[in-house]
Amino acid sequence: MKKHNFSAGPCILPQEVFQKSAEAILDFNGIGLSLLEISHRSKDFVPVMDEARAIVKRLMKLGDEYEVLFLGGGASLQFAMVPLNLMKSENGKAAYLDTGTWAAGAIKEAKKLGTVDIVSSSKEDQYSYIPKDYKVGSDYDYFHCTSNNTIYGTQMHEFPEVDTVMVCDMSSDIFSNARDYSKFDLMYAGAQKNMGPAGVTVVVVKKEILGKTGRDIFSMLDYQKHIEKESMYNTPPVFPVYATLLTLQHLENNGGIEAAEQRNIAKAKLIYDEIDRNPLFVGFAKKEDRSFMNVSFKILDENKKEAFDNAWKAAGISGLNGHRSLGGYRASLYNALNIESVQVLVDVMKSIS
Ligand SMILES: *Cc1c(COP(=O)(O)O)cnc(C)c1O
Repeated sequence: MKKHNFSAGPCILPQEVFQKSAEAILDFNGIGLSLLEISHRSKDFVPVMDEARAIVKRLMKLGDEYEVLFLGGGASLQFAMVPLNLMKSENGKAAYLDTGTWAAGAIKEAKKLGTVDIVSSSKEDQYSYIPKDYKVGSDYDYFHCTSNNTIYGTQMHEFPEVDTVMVCDMSSDIFSNARDYSKFDLMYAGAQKNMGPAGVTVVVVKKEILGKTGRDIFSMLDYQKHIEKESMYNTPPVFPVYATLLTLQHLENNGGIEAAEQRNIAKAKLIYDEIDRNPLFVGFAKKEDRSFMNVSFKILDENKKEAFDNAWKAAGISGLNGHRSLGGYRASLYNALNIESVQVLVDVMKSIS
């Protein structure tokens, strides 16, 4: 039986996507060949890449000033590609907001290329909130933030107005809410959190911000090269691109980002209400910064932990353990998770108190 999958990533995808992906591996569109054994430059695959790039822009309501890339290397490679492509080679300087382990990972890489100012950080408070007390001036080459902190369960519900290029790691909440995506000059997300299988990363970039560093960039790390070659500079990860396209088509056919946002709000409310009502549980993140995607919480009475763990496992729930660095529990409510699954978890929580 299908489990209620609360995993933080790789994550649950629509069942229809699993089915269609499996079919495509056996026989792609009835051509008598597997998706895995055809040329990425064939007339059968090129439309997949073209439509995958187009649907991202449609869903985000972005115009022709943006380009969409499907790249390998994970979101982690973007920690390096962003400064390589945006930080001036001489006296380069960038502003970063430190809201968690992933943000810190991005900072670590950027420091290898130039000056990095951490404009604000919630590290001292175990990353339990999103700092809001900072300004970013035009003396920076760009500003980098992380919209959703997957491990801690905090999310930026508002974004600052900055006087420079705005970059955001949206790995764990892309396509989950109807934010104004045109506020950003560069967005990236590893597919495996809310969009597709591991192995591909989506980068959405405004063309005008590129080509200004004075640096000769390795071709594979150069956004402009990938744009020129329409994400086919080298052999793209064809299967993750196809499965991501199926997920995004599923999203578009079910009311787009706006409808997904409403479903995600309802799911998050259901579980946060129980965390706040039930004296046995406590949420980790500061309330106003709570994530609608990753709900981190703890059990207060350690004596009831075993009973709770047994009960959720018996209810067919999977992937509820917190990140190893934080402990406790983490319920990830990505787009494909149904509210019925959240109800099952909430019923278990009620039964323990
Ligand atoms: C998971 C995650 C990453 C790292 O993604 P990879 O694709 O594994 O490199 C980066 N940023 C955030 C916010 C994440 O959740």
